[in-house]
Amino acid sequence: MPTLAKAYVAASPSAPLEPGTIERRDPGDFEVRIAIKFTGICHSDIHTARGDWGQVNYPVVVGHEIAGIVEAVGAKVTRYSVGDRVGVGCFVDSCRECANCRAGEEQYCLAGVTRTYNGVGRDGLPTAGGYSTSIVVDENYVLRVPDGIALDAAAPLLCAGITVYSPLRNWRAGPGKRVAIIGMGGLGHMGVKIAAALGADVAVLSQSLKKQEDALRLGAQHYYATSDPATFDILAGHFDLIINTVSADIDVDDYLALLDLDGTMVLVGLPSKPLTTRAWSLVGYRRNLAGSKMGGIRQTQEMLNFCATHGLGADVNVIPASKINDAYDRVIASDVRYRFVIDADTF
Ligand code: NAP
Ligand code: ZN
Ligand code: ZN
Repeated sequence: MPTLAKAYVAASPSAPLEPGTIERRDPGDFEVRIAIKFTGICHSDIHTARGDWGQVNYPVVVGHEIAGIVEAVGAKVTRYSVGDRVGVGCFVDSCRECANCRAGEEQYCLAGVTRTYNGVGRDGLPTAGGYSTSIVVDENYVLRVPDGIALDAAAPLLCAGITVYSPLRNWRAGPGKRVAIIGMGGLGHMGVKIAAALGADVAVLSQSLKKQEDALRLGAQHYYATSDPATFDILAGHFDLIINTVSADIDVDDYLALLDLDGTMVLVGLPSKPLTTRAWSLVGYRRNLAGSKMGGIRQTQEMLNFCATHGLGADVNVIPASKINDAYDRVIASDVRYRFVIDADTF
């Protein structure tokens, strides 16, 4: 017998999210059912619910920053038991056989990763995400939340945390590296915390000075407002690594000019319009422009353990489900400090 879960549903790109009900299958042999406690509001949820990227199968239940407690396990599950504190991120399955899956980079599965929402599961049914009271997931795609991290502060780590941890590790942020984080929202504020914990010299580039005090509290050594043209003169040729988390269209050339010789800008933000950049911005100083998508299961667990060791979680603003639509407007206005997290008991 499938379980009924309460949910918040987007019916079309323009409709506000509304309360509804979805079915969750019984856990298969290798699956667990998780009672969701908290779900973060990622900007990608908004892009998807509002159809910014196209290709949405409405009605859709978004949410891929999920933290909760295991409440049922399939007959052959070995990794988790009822009562365990767990998380689920941006994907719930992959082919498990391709080179990328075998390398632990399931997010780049060559057969196409199964997204937590707006995807199609192995059962052929649409996947539904974390704006709901429960979810059923294969144990291999479930993460363990260490005891040291509260579940509300852990939820955003499952997308925002890993999406910045992965490029910071892959491009070796650490002592002696000058790292800039552009945009201090959900991803950006975790980028500051993690880059600082890795020992890098961290600067925040934000639209205004409003978040300066917070940035320094979170571990940044430097802070610049991009609304001040002097910022681009002062910082020309300065950084080894820039993580660009901006969700809107910005002039990438302006920011590439801030990279030192051999420096790299990693795009993690996903604005809907195509980027344009002058070749000279890269050619002139042998600079690199790269992109990075979430992180694999192994690296996500490493990130959670790293955060627990360093006492890191997201700075969250816990809201009832009835405030989701307001929260969307505030995220778009960059008015969030620094992640809205939905209390799943209020669905
Ligand atoms: P968010 O909380 O809204 O943060 C984005 C930040 O970008 C804002 O806080 C703001 O920072 C800055 N920003 C927004 N509009 C801007 C504008 N017009 N000009 C300049 N800066 C602007 O969003 P998020 O959840 O962190 O997600 C950020 C982006 O990453 C989204 O596009 C999301 O879809 C994408 N994403 C990608 C992945 C991946 O795997 N690559 C994973 C998750 C999310 P300031 O106020 O500091 O200026
Ligand atoms: Zn996300
Ligand atoms: Zn694969």
